[in-house]
Amino acid sequence: MIDLYALSVDKLGEMLAQWGEPGFRTKQLWDWMYNQRVASFDAMMNLPKSLRDRLSAETTLGVLELDTERTSQDGTIKRLYKLPDGQLIESVLMEYDDERRTACISTQAGCAMGCVFCATGQMGFARHLTSTEIFEQAMYFARDLEAEGNRLSNVVLMGMGEPFHNYDASLEAIRRLMSDLGIGARHITISTVGLVPMIKRFADEGLQVKLAVSLHAATDDERSALLPINKKYSLQDLIAACHEYVEKTGRRMTFEWTLIQGENDTAVQAHTLGRLLNGLHCHVNVIPLNPTGGFMGTPSASGRIDAFVNTLSEYGIPATVRIRRGIDIAAGCGQLKSEVTRRERPRPVQEDSDPAR
Ligand code: SAH
Ligand code: SF4
Repeated sequence: MIDLYALSVDKLGEMLAQWGEPGFRTKQLWDWMYNQRVASFDAMMNLPKSLRDRLSAETTLGVLELDTERTSQDGTIKRLYKLPDGQLIESVLMEYDDERRTACISTQAGCAMGCVFCATGQMGFARHLTSTEIFEQAMYFARDLEAEGNRLSNVVLMGMGEPFHNYDASLEAIRRLMSDLGIGARHITISTVGLVPMIKRFADEGLQVKLAVSLHAATDDERSALLPINKKYSLQDLIAACHEYVEKTGRRMTFEWTLIQGENDTAVQAHTLGRLLNGLHCHVNVIPLNPTGGFMGTPSASGRIDAFVNTLSEYGIPATVRIRRGIDIAAGCGQLKSEVTRRERPRPVQEDSDPAR
């Protein structure tokens, strides 16, 4: 089967020419795929039945197979997709009152970075996704929204995996989100754990795409304990790369800070962070921890969250507390996959009966 979303317009034209179709069919098919965003060949009304039948027999509109879907009380939709080789990846759609529809998509099956509080990090790395597999996650949501008269407005590369560890495929997917799905660069965010050489490379791309860096701690000791990659790229190098990015692009950047009670929500950490970010055009997103099976930490209580944000404002650093969306459907990064896999392959009785869990 040929995955049509993997073909450029030229390749699509070549395929149709080989099938003996007239040239204008390429534009028609492209229009159904990317502008009308239909999910089936039957819906492609101006194509002859014989062509639709051949398309159905020999090609497919996407390779992602829906394994599990959950809808949260707040409207967040979480999907687990099976890839052709059996790997499972997650995508989330968040709907906001102001018409914003944001897809959160994965860039890898698993992740090699091993951040201790992250469900994906706890699973380890399986493989990189192709640019098409990354792109299709947004495409599928765009298709479903289109069918109900809505539009996908934003995409964040914040699902499973580290986008800068799979740099080329992630960037290719971003380019296609812009060109084929018509999503503006300013409505796309790429989030990295802080791979310094790739932040520098990204700064040179000349894209208006937003950059978010997962910081989570303001001293090397504490950051290394949470994010092992910090042992390779220290905070000093990371913050220097961020300054370079802001200077080169003229864009404000975002830092992400997952608040863990008693660990990185202290007054000392808040003041250290305030000093660390001094003079950097940035914004901090504060997100209370989503508890995961492999990490003992708990989310910060609301009083501590407020205190943290207030301390940052003393340093002139704007911070926003992000609501944890889809909490009832395991919408945190990698959480649905670990839950489903655990259910399918039960852990030994000994572990399950451990009262400490
Ligand atoms: N690998 C990239 C993007 C995917 S993770 C990165 O790390 O930035 C997206 C965000 O979710 C990161 O900021 C990450 O630190 C955060 N995150 C991971 N696990 C979390 C959890 N259990 N609770 C809250 N935030 C979490
Ligand atoms: Fe990977 Fe990001 Fe999870 Fe760290 S937080 S393990 S980089 S997905």
